[in-house]
Amino acid sequence: MARYRGPSCKLCRREGEQLFLKGARCYTSKCAIQKRPNRGPGVHGAAIGRSKFSDYGIRLREKQKVKRIYGLTEKQFSRYFAEAARRSGVTGAMLILLLERRLDNVVYRLGFASSRNEARHLVWLGHVLVDGKRVNIPSFSVEQGNKIEIKAKTRSNPHVNQSLEGLERRGAPQWLELDRENYSGVVTKLPEREDVTVPIDEQLIVEFYSRV
Ligand code: SF4
Repeated sequence: MARYRGPSCKLCRREGEQLFLKGARCYTSKCAIQKRPNRGPGVHGAAIGRSKFSDYGIRLREKQKVKRIYGLTEKQFSRYFAEAARRSGVTGAMLILLLERRLDNVVYRLGFASSRNEARHLVWLGHVLVDGKRVNIPSFSVEQGNKIEIKAKTRSNPHVNQSLEGLERRGAPQWLELDRENYSGVVTKLPEREDVTVPIDEQLIVEFYSRV
């Protein structure tokens, strides 16, 4: 299935919670969820409450939520799940950690972009270097010790600088060390489940895939 290109706020309203898909706007009173909490998409959006969903629906919504947070297609997401299930360890936690290690997510987490979507574009367009080499694959999985940096010519880009200013609102994770002056960051250790503070119940996703 193709990548979703419609309004981002509609996705949050569908899930009934903030997924932070639109950068700085998500932290203002303009946020659609803050304006109309618990209302579904559409002008007359119906009230949303997970109590209305079946067991299957609750699991489906959790899977959709995480897929949307990381901006993945259905196929990409199910591939990540298959990879997580193949590896040793707890499948749900492994899934989240594999997603966190995506280069576009790391660029977002370091504050060089205000959303994962913006980060994906930075990577696609070749503005990001890993250990000094251009990497334009958003799904590139970072390793411990990798140095991620913004290309010299891109450092004056106002979007990058505004995003860095906004980093204080969400904070950088402990597994990444930001060198703001040099527009770079190092993966000091691989993420662990407790490093990922996004409210996700990954067990529901595991249960979703075990019944399909
Ligand atoms: Fe979601 Fe951000 Fe839109 Fe709020 S502003 S509804 S958090 S995308």
